[in-house]
Amino acid sequence: MKKLFLALFLLTSLSACIRSRTNDFEFYVTPTPDAAILAEIKQIVRQEINRQSENVLALMVAETSIENIRISQDGQYAVGWLIPIDPETNIPVPIEPGLVLLQKIGDDWKVWLPTADGWLELLAQIPNEILSPKHKKEWQKRVGAQIASASPSALSGYKLPWEAGITRRLTQSTCHDQYTPSGNAHYAFDFSTYGELWNIHAARGGVVWLYKDDITTCYEYTCSDKQPLGNYIVIKDTSTDPVSYQLYLHLKQGSIPDELKMQGTPVSQGQFIGNVDNTGQSWGHHLHFQVQVPLYGENYYWGRSIDIVFDDVDINGGRPRVQNAWCNDLTYCDVPGDICSSFRSEYTSQNEVVVEGPILIYFPFISR
Ligand SMILES: [Zn+2]
Repeated sequence: MKKLFLALFLLTSLSACIRSRTNDFEFYVTPTPDAAILAEIKQIVRQEINRQSENVLALMVAETSIENIRISQDGQYAVGWLIPIDPETNIPVPIEPGLVLLQKIGDDWKVWLPTADGWLELLAQIPNEILSPKHKKEWQKRVGAQIASASPSALSGYKLPWEAGITRRLTQSTCHDQYTPSGNAHYAFDFSTYGELWNIHAARGGVVWLYKDDITTCYEYTCSDKQPLGNYIVIKDTSTDPVSYQLYLHLKQGSIPDELKMQGTPVSQGQFIGNVDNTGQSWGHHLHFQVQVPLYGENYYWGRSIDIVFDDVDINGGRPRVQNAWCNDLTYCDVPGDICSSFRSEYTSQNEVVVEGPILIYFPFISR
């Protein structure tokens, strides 16, 4: 009888223990997924990362390791961690990892990177067995709060990023959605002048936050296949609300001035910051310019592009837009608040060049 009581006691304690564990879902263990399905999911997530690497800071500045994939028991949902890895040191970048979500639609898995439209809505559907309610709530709180506090109006005070008086072409703006269906680069601009590696001047002031300019120049139209990461400079601007980041992508190797190669160096509007080229996820020489704001609280790496207006653009309240044969901005001008009433392919800058450097004070020689 004593043994029976002891057995019952142990059983009750054990089940209470399991209940308390499963109640907070902290240590919920899912069955080990089939290796083939895991490999398939990793490959699909990798493809999506490659497609989005131009527009998401976390993907742009680092290699991404896909870890800890969990698949729901019904096989309809999956989650995984995206860990940014420093390509030079091979160790994780000290930032919060991203959470990638997947849903089976028909026979195929569809991927939502942390910056994708609809990510928050899909998060609510993810079964508790693969993402604990506690963690889900944390994500909902952080991302939901950020979306609610995001400035609904455009950021202003920008000027076209090249010298005043010069005209350059816009090849696509909202049409980035065609290649970046997440909508993360919806407010990006591609500026070019065929064959020219022209000078880029800051569209607005700030401080240098990140840069890279050691990637070999690619002169062919195949850089996208060869170079997952290109050269770039990112300028942080604390004068906007929220704090914003200007991304200038596909820069020429070695073209960023040495004096800017230190985090925190001030940059003025109109200051030379590098040359246009064709490095990274790029087809042809052009500048990809977008301004983005953080999506997850202080985690700037997983940000999204934000609507901006240029002082020197006189259509659409300062928003350059173009209609052309290969990518029509109008088709993708579908976000509430978008203005696409006028179109133009050429834009003339009024961005006066500012030369920063040591100030030389001239003391006239005084003769007695
Ligand atoms: Zn672009």
